Amino acid sequence: MEGRELTFRHKLPKTKIERYWKELENNTILATRCSRCGEKYYPPQADCSVCYSDDMEWVEIRGEGTLESFTQQHVIPQGFTFVSKPYTIAIARFGEYRVMGWYEGDELPKIGEKVEAYTAKDETGISKVYFRRRTLKAEESP
Ligand SMILES: [Zn+2]
Repeated sequence: MEGRELTFRHKLPKTKIERYWKELENNTILATRCSRCGEKYYPPQADCSVCYSDDMEWVEIRGEGTLESFTQQHVIPQGFTFVSKPYTIAIARFGEYRVMGWYEGDELPKIGEKVEAYTAKDETGISKVYFRRRTLKAEESP
């Protein structure tokens, strides 16, 4: 059976969270927290969907994350044809925030492994969040 090519375009409203995209280029990953009710958002949201406040504060995602989930894509979707091999998207917990990112490397990640997040530009020039396995430094070895 022959397939039919479909094109979808997503328009992401980003004006109120433009700082997130700018900071990604500086290797800074930001989330937001509602100043009124404390709800946390990643990706960052400019308005709280719990209490409807727009009084949000920026929170930087840093340090060590714990990998909670992942999926590996073998069929490259339309719009990602710059990717030449299967890729892995993972979700890792950094404190109270869950962050989604591209998992570095060809091996499958392990649930519970420690990762660090960083940003880099992909082949299309868009800055994205990546995870890499965190290796223990000598003084941290058991
Ligand atoms: Zn709120």
